[in-house]
Amino acid sequence: MKKTDKAAYQKRLDRIADLFSGMVAQAEVQSQHRCPYRNRHDQCTAKFRCRNQRPPAADDDPAICAHDAELEYRSAWETDPSNYRRAKAKIKKIKTASLARRGRQDPGETGD
Ligand code: SF4
Repeated sequence: MKKTDKAAYQKRLDRIADLFSGMVAQAEVQSQHRCPYRNRHDQCTAKFRCRNQRPPAADDDPAICAHDAELEYRSAWETDPSNYRRAKAKIKKIKTASLARRGRQDPGETGD
């Protein structure tokens, strides 16, 4: 078996660290301008409402992101907690109705 050359090994580790630190720096710069929910087709993949969303070309497609990358994109995100609570309540109501149709009870409400 070949003996490991510690100097060569360290040189490779340093090279890998250099590569990754460059990627991280680039990602950090890009994250200040490009929303993480915007995919490479300029579609929005967010599961919440945002003022930058525009109707998609086809009904089944995700919304189009209209953000111009000039201003801070996070201020357009829907952050109203009452919307979140309404959505959670609606989901719970649908789940309860679905379980009731099947003659079952929500396991979270048994009190056990
Ligand atoms: S529409 Fe809003 S949430 Fe969606 S990708 Fe664009 S900026 Fe991000």
